[in-house]
Amino acid sequence: IFDRLKQGLTKTRKTFQDTVATLVHRRSIDAELYDELEEKLLAADIGFDTTTALLERMKKEARRQSFQTADQLIPVLKEAMDEILTAQDHAMHTAAQGPTVILVVGVNGVGKTTTIGKLAHRYTLEGKRVMIAAGDTFRAAAIEQLAVWAERANVPLVRQAIGSDAAAVIFDAVQSARARQVDVLLCDTAGRLQNKSHLMDELRKIVRIMKREIPDAPHEVLLVVDATTGQNALSQAAMFKEVADVTGVILTKLDGTAKGGVILPISRELNLPIKWIGIGEQIDDLQPFMASSFSEALFS
Ligand code: GDP
Repeated sequence: IFDRLKQGLTKTRKTFQDTVATLVHRRSIDAELYDELEEKLLAADIGFDTTTALLERMKKEARRQSFQTADQLIPVLKEAMDEILTAQDHAMHTAAQGPTVILVVGVNGVGKTTTIGKLAHRYTLEGKRVMIAAGDTFRAAAIEQLAVWAERANVPLVRQAIGSDAAAVIFDAVQSARARQVDVLLCDTAGRLQNKSHLMDELRKIVRIMKREIPDAPHEVLLVVDATTGQNALSQAAMFKEVADVTGVILTKLDGTAKGGVILPISRELNLPIKWIGIGEQIDDLQPFMASSFSEALFS
């Protein structure tokens, strides 16, 4: 699983190794080095605030421990990254009894449908009974795509006609999940962003209606963001944090991008735990996020 992670992170690892690690090779520590480091960290999509914090930390340790050479900064950087990533609770919350309800939110195109299929597959392999609810009733293609993934994962899909009320679909699914003793109910939602207050209303309505059946639902509100969009993923996460009670983030498409560093500002600046990472298009290309393995993989 660690090798798979390393492989999945190939491009992001290259960014860290080719730039940061090469930069510190056989150099002394001076202002110019810190300037260059800053540039490289920003280019790795770590964002301004987090880059500044990482630099401060390196400077402080360099002084405190009287470092002689720049490569001594790397373990400090790694440790600081670990601290950022391990600060949150990455575990998935589950229902004490009855179905665990997972609401999946995010804009179109980020990989939401694929991720729901992957999660369904994963929980099925764990021996859980899984059901999917097609809560994006706005796009016919979204429902069809979800049906394809439900079939692949071999789990039932609750759907209604295009244009029907999303909250009604979810209510139907929650009732059905209880009746059929489902363990995990994965609820898709619409990803239209044009109108923030509309999105907020729709998500609120869905949550209010599911609580009628299961008062402590949803047990997770997972936001899917696309790592290839870098800083855009960060601003989407900030936006969704405002409109919904997001409990965690799924970062997709890490395999195709050098922008994986965006994981750091999402954790540090938004204080949102990364719960899963997508590292490919296949059904088993989803991994639970393991904070300590991430920076290890970047620097190995
Ligand atoms: P949605 O509109 O958010 O539901 O997005 P889809 O699930 O339809 O995915 C959009 C595209 O992203 C598809 O071509 C997927 O195969 C691709 N995709 C999703 N997750 C990943 C991933 O982790 N890695 C890669 N390389 N592609 C992905």
